[in-house]
Amino acid sequence: MPTVYLNGQFLPLEEARVPVMDRGFLFGDGVYEVIPVYSRRPFRQREHLDRLQASLDGIRLENPHSVQEWEGLIGRIVELAESEDQGVYLQVTRGPGPRDHAFPKTILPTVFILPMPLSPPSPELVAHGIAAVTARDNRWLRCDIKSTSLLPNVLLRQYSVDAGCAETLLLRDGCLAEGAASNIFVVLDGCLLAPPKSNLMLPGITYDVVLELAQQGGFPHCVRPIPEAELRAASEVWLTSSTKEVLAVTTLDGQHVGCGRPGPLFRRMHAAYQDYKHKVMRGND
Ligand code: PMP
Repeated sequence: MPTVYLNGQFLPLEEARVPVMDRGFLFGDGVYEVIPVYSRRPFRQREHLDRLQASLDGIRLENPHSVQEWEGLIGRIVELAESEDQGVYLQVTRGPGPRDHAFPKTILPTVFILPMPLSPPSPELVAHGIAAVTARDNRWLRCDIKSTSLLPNVLLRQYSVDAGCAETLLLRDGCLAEGAASNIFVVLDGCLLAPPKSNLMLPGITYDVVLELAQQGGFPHCVRPIPEAELRAASEVWLTSSTKEVLAVTTLDGQHVGCGRPGPLFRRMHAAYQDYKHKVMRGND
């Protein structure tokens, strides 16, 4: 049973309790992060904490901790965790209060940190890629906030599970937004395309890493809106997230993407990502 952090205490997961009047429970009034930890080293921790700050600003909730305090709390959770690799989940809600949509007068935020098992995608998944489906994006207009109000994402993700697929790619106003739990890249005519950051997608930490590696590796790339027709004509489609790293989407809505196998640019990017990750694990990032 892992040790978790809840409101000032480190305790076994089965002993952690939050009041039923917590606004996270009643309204999904909170935000979260998932930070991958490799060999007990958090990956891009500062960037995750900056995004947490942006999410808190987005829901008008004061950050209960400084960056140094967060680093200390996460560091302790990582130290206490059983395995070397973790996905550290952290959540801040607006805490308990009367059941009223308006903010309570006194705010006592709930802070929860949970180490979750993290295993990188299997070599088979990397070698074969995944199948995905598309759906209309019916989420709200602040998808840049990493909110715990995840019901649309839950339903959209289940839609792919029901179709025997691993992810749902979301289309809004005729363009690709992102995945239900990932960012999406497209290769068209040898050029790597990424949708620009906006209120319609989460600014992924892995998305940034991939664009940095594309820049360093001399991949032709362009950040611009991707119309649905270009997604369907793509020779490669990639999915990125902190837990999935970079994976190729090789089947989309039952059709092969390109030749139906991970493409040459994907293989280059996957290798670059693994090199970078190992550099970080050795501590010379
Ligand atoms: N978009 C959504 C909707 C997500 O849930 C995630 C995963 N957290 C991502 C994108 C990818 O973000 P990251 O690379 O920071 O994990």
